[in-house]
Amino acid sequence: MDIKELVRKNIRSLKPYSSARDEFSGEAGIFLDANENPYGEINRYPDPHQRRLKKAVSEIKRVKEDRIFIGNGSDEAIDLLFRVFVEPGADKVIVCPPTYGMYEVAADINNVEVVKVPLTDDFQLDIDTISVIGAKMIFLCSPNNPTGNILDNINTVLNRFGGIVVIDEAYIDFCPDKSSLSLIDKHPNLVVLQTFSKAWALAGARVGMAFAREEIIEFMDKSKPPYNVSAPNQQAALRAVAQKEEFENRRKIILRQRNYLSEELNKIDFVKKVYPSDANFLLVELADADTIYRHLVSQRIIIRNRNSQIRNCVRITVGTPEENQTLLNKLKNVSL
Ligand SMILES: *Cc1c(COP(=O)(O)O)cnc(C)c1O
Repeated sequence: MDIKELVRKNIRSLKPYSSARDEFSGEAGIFLDANENPYGEINRYPDPHQRRLKKAVSEIKRVKEDRIFIGNGSDEAIDLLFRVFVEPGADKVIVCPPTYGMYEVAADINNVEVVKVPLTDDFQLDIDTISVIGAKMIFLCSPNNPTGNILDNINTVLNRFGGIVVIDEAYIDFCPDKSSLSLIDKHPNLVVLQTFSKAWALAGARVGMAFAREEIIEFMDKSKPPYNVSAPNQQAALRAVAQKEEFENRRKIILRQRNYLSEELNKIDFVKKVYPSDANFLLVELADADTIYRHLVSQRIIIRNRNSQIRNCVRITVGTPEENQTLLNKLKNVSL
């Protein structure tokens, strides 16, 4: 498969912006090249190539640095993938609802037709339908948001689909054994998205990652705004990566709390079903999602009402032990 064939013509021939820091990237010296202010704390432009952060990510993920893209959240990577590969007004993309809403929004912004291939009743991929649709790109979210489950047949899609396969692994650090990251060796059309927003506790910093073969990363890099990740945000991600123990502790607490929350929710009579989860949230079917959602809002507890996507379902993020207990107490006081 020749990836270049999938790239938009204007991007193939794009001459990227060359920043002052591209033309000289040494360490020491006097910098009078970028019209920066010589005074201040964050007066310098950040490294446009995020070299230190890529090195750190490379070590924890065991992926070569030139197979890593760092973005202003994974949302930036999603938008860039459209701009690199998908011709507005001509190409199509596949999404598999119920899933993350940004794929469709990004498609709409880029004037790209979305073909929806809904997940099956057990929230798995409808492989036969996906296989017969010609599209430029497909988005698979695994673990899927809002259903919480890993998608099983990713390999079959990779073997059959002729376009770019994007696997959004925003929640993969809660089930690292199930990552598809190693498949980028074998599949030149695979892009795996991960993020610092969830298990790494940095949603406020906006740092996302895309992993793919170097051909794809090169096209993403040359299409991105040069200074797309701010210096404080790169530093925040570097600090997070350096605090491995903190990361592990929090992850363990969240996973234990997820299981506790699931058990306790199951004891409540208007809870019809708590779906199994590989992520830091639970999809829960209630007798009447709208009523219970409104009741919790009146108690200043905000969960995500997914009734419009999956009948009578809500998505509950695992909070601190105290937050989870408060939620359970409020729910136990609801009388329908
Ligand atoms: C939360 C989430 C993201 C994270 O997006 P960022 O822009 O990195 O914060 C990506 N994909 C899915 C499915 C998510 O739920």
